[in-house]
Amino acid sequence: MDIWFALIVGVIIGNYLFSVGISLLNLAALGRTPPPAVSDIYDDEEYQRSQHYTRQSTICSVAETTCSVVILLIFIGVGGFSLLQKLSTSVSDSIYLHALLFIGLLLLASTLISLPFGWFRTFVLETRYGFNLTTVTTFIMDKIKAALVVTIIGIPLLIGVIWLFTSFGGLGWFYCWLAMIGFTVFMQYLVPTVIMPLFNTFTPLANEELTQLLQGYARRQNFRIQGIYAMDGSKRSTRLNAFFAGIGRAKKIVLFDTLLEKLTNKQILAVLAHEMGHYKKHHIWKLGAVAILQSGFMLYLFSLIVAIPGPFAALGMTPSIAGGMVIFTMLYSPISIVADLISNALSRRFEFEADKFSATTTDDRNALIEGLKILSRENLSNLTPHPAMVYSHYSHPPVDARICALNELPVDGK
Ligand SMILES: [Zn+2]
Repeated sequence: MDIWFALIVGVIIGNYLFSVGISLLNLAALGRTPPPAVSDIYDDEEYQRSQHYTRQSTICSVAETTCSVVILLIFIGVGGFSLLQKLSTSVSDSIYLHALLFIGLLLLASTLISLPFGWFRTFVLETRYGFNLTTVTTFIMDKIKAALVVTIIGIPLLIGVIWLFTSFGGLGWFYCWLAMIGFTVFMQYLVPTVIMPLFNTFTPLANEELTQLLQGYARRQNFRIQGIYAMDGSKRSTRLNAFFAGIGRAKKIVLFDTLLEKLTNKQILAVLAHEMGHYKKHHIWKLGAVAILQSGFMLYLFSLIVAIPGPFAALGMTPSIAGGMVIFTMLYSPISIVADLISNALSRRFEFEADKFSATTTDDRNALIEGLKILSRENLSNLTPHPAMVYSHYSHPPVDARICALNELPVDGK
């Protein structure tokens, strides 16, 4: 057997076994008694419900992964990539059009494969547990809008990548990296102002008392914000959330309407103070720098892979940038597991720091603790995730670890 073919198939299967293995470990960790710090989040019945939810949602994800991997392996087995490349090159002589067709058709196929699972998750699983508020019209419109956004942004991006790689030879990856950094910064402005309003409605916060409380805190922390907005999260689900959108002076605070409904003003302030802590402790820039370094490393590796004819031949393709993207996506997964381990560890550390920032600057750790408990209860969070799942997938520490860390802060908060 061809060594590259064996490597590609081996990586796909290895990656699949790793992800299913972690899910199984996580399922095996269910059923334990909740840790003392979080024992009052659910009553017995709710606790059972949260565990059933974790179990069913995991089964759904494993089914989806299995289905995608089986289809991918069959596609490779019947020479699908080779056929797709022949089809896209038969249409025109332009390398750009080949790439758009090749990547476009693959994206379309993967969207169609995931569609029934997305439907099941939203209208069966999430409905069964009382999360879902999405109508069929919203679901369909979301898919159409997302496809349009991906098309409008993706086409110039793909053309740009191919142009840079074909025009600058060995330095193509470096110019591509510089362009990607610029694009990422540009998206920080585009996402909150143009893309997010396509999916949700943002209205300035109507609650005068809460606005004053939050603005007063922001002023005391010397933190510039452009405004505080309520978002109609209840258009899709009952889940609670809050976040900052944008960078620099254009930062907006966004609070889900579901969060405004379930949390007291003090708890909302504690959540906001946590988010602000991420900026004050420079987490945003640090995580941004890690992501930029990682993307540079990826582009460099990609430039090495596209220069080797072996993997293309293994899949019956002639070397091309678009074909290389597919091969790279498949071969990169073991490295991406390691990269995720590192970036998730960093992110979990930052969560503890932001919690500490919130508790000390508001001088009210209990507000954050109670807020975290409500968030966990309303989102049916798994209170006993397996450590392997936490290390590999969790960007936030499990809630009991966060509450314990808050309780361990010295009384004067310093
Ligand atoms: Zn955070």
